[in-house]
Amino acid sequence: MHKLVVQKFGGTSVQDAEAMRRVMAIVREYGITRHHRPLVVLSACAGVTNSLIRISELALLEDTADAIKEVDGLTTRHATIVRDLIKDKRLQRDVLKQLGDIWSDLRKLVRGVHLLNELTLRSRDHFLSVGERASTLIFSAALGEALKKDGLEVILYDAREFFITSREFSQARPLTRDIERKMRPIRSQIAHGAIGVSQGFIGATTEGITTTIGRGGSDFSAALMGVAVRAQEIQIWTDVAGIYTCDPRLTPAAAPIPTVSFAEASALALFGAKVLHPETIWPAVEKGIPVRVLSSNEPEEEGTTILGEVAQTRPLTGIAFKRNVLLSQISPLSAMPTLESHAVLWETLVEQKAVPLAISQTAHHALYVFEHAGIQTALRQELNGLASIEFWSDRSLVTLVGPGLETTPGIALRIFKAVGKTNCELITYGGDGIVVSFIVPDDKMPSVVKRLHKEFFE
Ligand code: ASP
Ligand code: MG
Repeated sequence: MHKLVVQKFGGTSVQDAEAMRRVMAIVREYGITRHHRPLVVLSACAGVTNSLIRISELALLEDTADAIKEVDGLTTRHATIVRDLIKDKRLQRDVLKQLGDIWSDLRKLVRGVHLLNELTLRSRDHFLSVGERASTLIFSAALGEALKKDGLEVILYDAREFFITSREFSQARPLTRDIERKMRPIRSQIAHGAIGVSQGFIGATTEGITTTIGRGGSDFSAALMGVAVRAQEIQIWTDVAGIYTCDPRLTPAAAPIPTVSFAEASALALFGAKVLHPETIWPAVEKGIPVRVLSSNEPEEEGTTILGEVAQTRPLTGIAFKRNVLLSQISPLSAMPTLESHAVLWETLVEQKAVPLAISQTAHHALYVFEHAGIQTALRQELNGLASIEFWSDRSLVTLVGPGLETTPGIALRIFKAVGKTNCELITYGGDGIVVSFIVPDDKMPSVVKRLHKEFFE
């Protein structure tokens, strides 16, 4: 019996024949071993989901010519990949024929939407499912061809037959118990030696109606599939070799972090690091399945492993930053009770769904940091007569994340020595014990971050 690993590849990893060949090499090298077999989960080729959205909207126009033209573009693009990737002419023809069925399906959808002059979320999900169905069809055939001589079997599983979701089209909720039940035979086939290929992002209701789980959803699909088949590991292959100590475009010395706890990864993402949305992989982490973030351009790199908890001794894990945040100072007008303005402030935030990134409160004034400047108008309106408010938008929020921020003696001194003469306007320290944030002027942020990175990582 083999242990299972899930290998997930995003749109750029499968954008053309060359990229798909790289993925095939990665599957052979890091998915198939003496003791392991992979379930490969793919996105649509880069740009295809957007194109399908356009097609669905163009279908509503008076004339469907533009929609059909775009369908033709997709047809050509995928056919080019097939001809480049698959060697056997018979297999090529066979795959092109099956793809042909997908495109004729798509044309029918265009006609249907056009005739009814109505695009529901339900029909749009059908449009969107085409991207993943096409990419996996091509990839599984090519992989099957390449592995045949090794006596290995590749099976394409249609996610709509096992990835069961609610009926909330375009944002459907996966139903984990059904998925687990439906995936049992898949798990057994792979454990017995087969290599599985399937689609991220798409699923179906219990009645078999096609659904999608939200843009960028294939990481979430991969995590849930990994849980359902009790994978030993989930590999998320992207175009960066893991989670970095800092954005390498700003600090070239930044390096991937070998292991990171879920809490640290979440904090880094929340405060601006460009990493996958950690909440999408939470189901796997919660079940104790390690999730590795790896780069398909540099597959030999170790990448980053995200675990539920990690015993770390390092003081600092990484530095994140957000440019152009909105800093607001709220000062109640009355000298005494400030609770009323707080209540109104929070009601407004709840209404506007604006979660502050950081808060600092002194006796009378409160400082809030928001991601988007759009909240200004609502705050001014609602707090009119209760508080005076000032806003600054040329500020950056710098955040340090690390397990030793509260426990390492003298670390605050090291941090603020590195910050140097730059003024910090709001400092939050503590709470969950792994985050320190502060505000600096936008134009000072790069040098502050570089000095901090040097102090702690170089
Ligand atoms: N293809 C889908 C999208 O572009 C899902 C994904 O790539 O995760 O949103
Ligand atoms: Mg191998």
